[in-house]
Amino acid sequence: MSWAERISPTVKAIPPSGIRRFFDIAAEMKGVVSLGVGEPDFVTPWHIRESCVHGLHKGYTAYTSNYGLLELREEITRTIYDTYKVSYDPRKEALVTVGVSEALDLAIRAILSPGDEVLIPEPCYVSYKACVLLAGGTPVPVPTSMEHEFRVTVEQLEKLVSPRTKALLIGYPNNPTGAIMPKQELSAIAQFAKKHDLIVISDEIYADLTYEGTHTCFAGLPDMRDRTILLNGFSKAYAMTGWRIGYALSNPDFIAAMNKIHQYTMLCAPITAQLAAVEALRNGKINMEKMVAEYNCRRQLMVDGLRSLGLSCFEPKGAFYIFPSIKETGLGSLQFAEELLKAEKVAVVPGDAFGESGEGFVRCSYASSISNLTTALERIGRFVKQRL
Ligand code: PLP
Repeated sequence: MSWAERISPTVKAIPPSGIRRFFDIAAEMKGVVSLGVGEPDFVTPWHIRESCVHGLHKGYTAYTSNYGLLELREEITRTIYDTYKVSYDPRKEALVTVGVSEALDLAIRAILSPGDEVLIPEPCYVSYKACVLLAGGTPVPVPTSMEHEFRVTVEQLEKLVSPRTKALLIGYPNNPTGAIMPKQELSAIAQFAKKHDLIVISDEIYADLTYEGTHTCFAGLPDMRDRTILLNGFSKAYAMTGWRIGYALSNPDFIAAMNKIHQYTMLCAPITAQLAAVEALRNGKINMEKMVAEYNCRRQLMVDGLRSLGLSCFEPKGAFYIFPSIKETGLGSLQFAEELLKAEKVAVVPGDAFGESGEGFVRCSYASSISNLTTALERIGRFVKQRL
């Protein structure tokens, strides 16, 4: 039996990430403008880096509690309370994780039994379905459309809910579409979750990157606090992707269950990143707001730029992605992304990487300088002109 044949069928069944693939191809080519990767182009603000260095000077190099430094859990719960008026006990209802990525995996594994279904509005972040499959569950995609601003409705959810449905996994502001959900519509979804007794995993990693209106914290909706596993982190808003730090907030039973997995598989998040995260929450707001203002300018540039090329696109309300339709060019998502990369050296991600309903779109990240974005728009313009 070959080595490949010995790999677990569950793992074999997971397709490779469509984002990483393009990133790898682009990295090997010269002169590529990449709108491919969803990561801030800013370096982590200096005061955050300095707090980590200071911690190292003081010799903070050991494991922390599995749950994370109490100091950090207190800052997290204080910030969530100050922002959304949802209160959590930092000792029992908060878990510091290695990015939202780990929190997502833990949340899903902590609640799913084999065959349980999870409703996932689509297009969605690439890890959602993979994590559900790895946990032995069944992802049930709920397709959304540009016509409805990529917002999921209760009517759609009602059609797909079944006796096996255990949870609903939502991520707003959304990656890849930039969609947000108004409070009223989220409240209707909360009622739906209650009616069907579902757990809601709410990935709010882009909450601070909301450009229009204010973000609604799902756990803050009536009766939702204990039913919701709220996930958030530092990667996007604080430009801290490489630090690998995030967190989960929920009722003590869910947090203890997640910690049960975390304590054996991860032990704890890195202490250096935890120290930096404390500083980010204590003193990072001004720098964060400056970065958000910059993303907002770029967002306008991209919306106007892409529309002026003849591509229809939904104006994103949050995160740092724009998801134009490329149907007008007659090309499929993958073909568009491959040919654009070859012909004009611009890397974008084919929309179907985010689920079937992403076909006909590509994701462009505007976490890139204005000059890069301007060059990318010129090149996309040349490419599209020949095909419209
Ligand atoms: N959730 C969403 C919606 C994301 O877009 C990402 C990263 O792109 C993550 C989670 C993972 O974040 P982290 O760096 O905290 O693991």
